[in-house]
Amino acid sequence: MSALAEAVVDLGAIADNVRTVAAVTDTALMAVVKADGFGHGAVPVARAALDAGARWLGVTSAAEALALRGAGITAPTLSWLHRPDDDFAALISAGVDVGVSTTTHLHAIVDAAHQVGVPATVQLKVDTGLSRNGASGDDWPDLVAWARKYEVEGGVQVRGVWSHLADADTPGSPGLPHQVATFEEALRVARHAGLSPDLVHLANSAAALSAPRTRFDLCRIGLALYGVDPFGADGPGEFGLRPAMTLRTTVINVKRVPAGTGVSYGPEYVTARPTTLALLPLGYADGLPRATEGRAEVWLGGRRLPIVGRVAMDQCVVDAGAAPVAIGDPVVVFGPSTGDGRAGRHGIATTGDPAAPTVTEWARWAGTNPHEILTGVGARVGRDHLHERAGNS
Ligand SMILES: *Cc1c(COP(=O)(O)O)cnc(C)c1O
Repeated sequence: MSALAEAVVDLGAIADNVRTVAAVTDTALMAVVKADGFGHGAVPVARAALDAGARWLGVTSAAEALALRGAGITAPTLSWLHRPDDDFAALISAGVDVGVSTTTHLHAIVDAAHQVGVPATVQLKVDTGLSRNGASGDDWPDLVAWARKYEVEGGVQVRGVWSHLADADTPGSPGLPHQVATFEEALRVARHAGLSPDLVHLANSAAALSAPRTRFDLCRIGLALYGVDPFGADGPGEFGLRPAMTLRTTVINVKRVPAGTGVSYGPEYVTARPTTLALLPLGYADGLPRATEGRAEVWLGGRRLPIVGRVAMDQCVVDAGAAPVAIGDPVVVFGPSTGDGRAGRHGIATTGDPAAPTVTEWARWAGTNPHEILTGVGARVGRDHLHERAGNS
């Protein structure tokens, strides 16, 4: 074993989550594997999701899309965030659908299509309230009109129209029906201009699971694919999702110290009693946020124990009290697996159970969302994929 910590990724959980969401939505699914599959490994996650029935892959950038193609994955793929000078010819040649939000990008894509000699397949994005990417206001009819003109001329084929929701994870939010209405109006504008997109999509994980009117032809699932409940439940939640990642390491030093011993950088933590300290070889460079100070726990020796003092770049210290702890003991930072054959109900940790913390708890301790914890798992943490199959998709 060479890495100091591993993220163990259960691809069986990824496959189960695809099936779970498909059963709820009854639509085609796009597995969102941006940011290296939310830190889980884009290529193995993509293969597992496709094998389980996902039809599409979604990524942020051209580089991410081309990496999938480089791994031999030929499934329909949409890439949606581009610089105006991106290598659109490479995307077109690789058969990747290009998400388009501005006429600046559209003109560049058509130029690239002429170079390559085949039309670009594009999916036009409308801004329905997030105020990020997507065409808004008068820019939408303008984008649609240019796209139709280019479609007639043979430079592009408009396969899709899509948008992204702002607060689908807040049940009952008034923003959601407003965004759906804005989206339907934008679709009417596109069809009126002569476009006939056959792939209309709006929903992310939270909307796919909870808001049937957002499902259209396809749901784009990120967080739910990785098994984290989009509504903040610590356990499997209402939908029975299975977290795929377990972050684990090993105790590398143990010391018995008297009361009054300072721990880690700074004056914050001094032992109140004689105790046993266990050193873990991972820190904020590996994805443990410093902001969790005073709250975070890990699973060690069949119990939850607190991380004390500051999380450093490479290390953190656990206060084991009177618990027996030895060098080499396995530690689970978060995950469904407790690393010692024990787990909560449904095989995954739930708050209050004698089980490992969840990624959702880590997010709460850090004042962030689970996405940031998952994508923050550092590059030097090893990735170990369970149930991986060999070969190409
Ligand atoms: C990241 C992303 C998703 C996935 O969102 P989840 O809430 O994690 O399901 C879907 N669509 C777009 C455009 C995204 O950027």
